[in-house]
Amino acid sequence: MNLDTKLTHILGIGPTLAWRLEKLELLTVEDLINHYPFRYDDFSNISTTLDAKVGEKVTLVGEIWSIKNIYTRSRKILTQAIFNDGNSPIELTWFNQSWLTKNILVGDKLQISGKVSKYKNKLSIMAPVWEKLTDKLPTTHNSSLHTGRLVPVYPETFGLTSKWLRQKIASFLPQVLKEIQDPLPESIKDSMLNLADALNKIHFPQNYNDVDLAKQRLGFDELFYIQLATLKTRKNWQKKQVLEPLKINSKNLREFIKSLPFKLTSAQLKVIDEIIKDLQKDFPMNRLVQGEVGSGKTVVAAAICYLIFQNNLKSFFMAPTEILAFQHFSTLKNLLEPFNLKVGIYTGSKKKAQEADVIVGTHALLSKKLLPENIGLIVVDEQQRFGVEQRSFLRSKAKIPHFLTMTATPIPRTVALTLYGDLDLSIIDEMPKGRKIVKTFVVPNKKRLDSYKFIEKKVKAGDQVYIITPFIEPSETQTSVKAAKIEFENLKKVFPKLKLGLLHGRLKSSEKELAINDFKDGKTDILVSTSVVEVGVDVANATIMIVEGAERFGLAQLHQLRGRVGRGEKESFCFLFAENENSSVLNRLKNLERTQNGLELAELDLKIRGSGEIFGTAQSGRFNLKIASFSDLTLLEQTRNKAGQILKEDVSLDKYPLLKAKLAEISQEVMPD
Ligand code: ADP
Ligand code: MG
Repeated sequence: MNLDTKLTHILGIGPTLAWRLEKLELLTVEDLINHYPFRYDDFSNISTTLDAKVGEKVTLVGEIWSIKNIYTRSRKILTQAIFNDGNSPIELTWFNQSWLTKNILVGDKLQISGKVSKYKNKLSIMAPVWEKLTDKLPTTHNSSLHTGRLVPVYPETFGLTSKWLRQKIASFLPQVLKEIQDPLPESIKDSMLNLADALNKIHFPQNYNDVDLAKQRLGFDELFYIQLATLKTRKNWQKKQVLEPLKINSKNLREFIKSLPFKLTSAQLKVIDEIIKDLQKDFPMNRLVQGEVGSGKTVVAAAICYLIFQNNLKSFFMAPTEILAFQHFSTLKNLLEPFNLKVGIYTGSKKKAQEADVIVGTHALLSKKLLPENIGLIVVDEQQRFGVEQRSFLRSKAKIPHFLTMTATPIPRTVALTLYGDLDLSIIDEMPKGRKIVKTFVVPNKKRLDSYKFIEKKVKAGDQVYIITPFIEPSETQTSVKAAKIEFENLKKVFPKLKLGLLHGRLKSSEKELAINDFKDGKTDILVSTSVVEVGVDVANATIMIVEGAERFGLAQLHQLRGRVGRGEKESFCFLFAENENSSVLNRLKNLERTQNGLELAELDLKIRGSGEIFGTAQSGRFNLKIASFSDLTLLEQTRNKAGQILKEDVSLDKYPLLKAKLAEISQEVMPD
């Protein structure tokens, strides 16, 4: 047996079990030993029935005096045993485990762990963990496995209990640990545990200090390898191919900028400048432009398309949805046609783009047939939705154009440097002058009618409204949660005189387009929608947004949502309703009343709710962190520095073959290049 051994090859693992293991994504021995506990039961308090107090977690050693199944009136099965530790017998009770009477026999010597309770004035333990003292115990731990220690509790699935996992891990671990070689060079490892020790301690710690040390090392590894992979990808990219540096016609660029109906912000100019520097290099640009909703990323990209055009090259402009593609198409036409560029569109439904200089579209653009020889630039709006396709597309190309990705997702810089560590980062950190802020209020449910009256008044005056719900369909378990389809029907009754539209992700794309166009054209007054409107729908006449179940969204996501209003000249509003009106919930939401800074809100998300928010909105599942977190900015920085340090010393990693092998394995998963 070694790390790569398939679990199904090991005795005792049959097909049903294999299927269950697969559900936990446990295929090999290596997967199993990297299946970490998510908590520990502290059963290290070895006690007696005389000393044990109600509410305490204890471990007792004794003998089974009697054991039997009892069938309750509600058709449940209880297994009850009398257990004697030589002091005073107590009762043990298990639920729905009738098979126990076959496993535990009268006279068996047991070590049991559990929480002491009082039942009918007698001490008892409900659902104790148990093991027989005659069982041959593995050698990784001094005495017992399931009791009498810090007992690891694992992510489980039906039929695969922590007890089972614990048993298997304990029996494989000693042999496997001998085989494990630590890929981390001493200089990086520093005072951290070596890998084998860390794995041993994460599963079978003697105390919580062991747990901390193990987590420190294993968490370091998770982020360190991501950093190494992204930094290495970046270096590979830079020597990928030699390009002809582009000629930049500054005079024409100035004319283009002067022709705009507004003055570019200095942040926009700064970013254009950073991009131009990239274009003048002899390797392809790979840059991410981060900028709040409304910060004016499109016009920056348009200016670059113009420069590309002047070098007799074409640009692709990819949007995450058809709706947005059409929006960009018309914006870019207005901006660029006066300068003799032809702008075309290519989506699932519209395909006339062949002769254009700038071709706007969705990911349909990636189809190879369409890719012209003289492509100079690919612009990707809202990068996270493209990440994977973009990368595999790039892998397939011999000659790579310049790449410009744009995102409004506010991600704290340190996190962005990790998530997008292979990209250069530009930030548009300034909004155009005179932008109206979206006046935001957390509204108590009891004032709901007032806000409905407010809506009615505003709609009469010609404004339009978004009402956002967290879900499309009502959920069986959470009937109170507002769902778009239901809320749509309710609101029709609330606003009998107004015209309502419905938009959600499960509509066909033609239906979505219709719903949005009706709203744009003023045929509907209120658009009831899920968060699909988040990505860039632009209706200047919409001035009010209501978000239902607001606590179900991250702050940064709410911020992006409210960016749908306040696009025009009029004063605009965002009303947040929470189902749960706890003060901690409301206080979190009140941050949106206080600040309009998306980056600050994203940082708060990290602090308050951890990195789940970032996975949710930006990067679902690309990085499967089990221990480390993207909210640990110190560790992010530390791992990035260390990764940089080792690559600087030896970019090929030839001196560190183990590390090189590990990187190759990781790169497949997180950073295919
Ligand atoms: P985003 O960064 O969210 O993609 P857009 O590029 O869609 O933002 O720009 C939002 C709006 O702001 C557009 O109507 C655009 O014409 C306008 N805009 C862009 N830059 C400026 C500026 N410097 N001053 C005023 N308005 C601007
Ligand atoms: Mg945009």
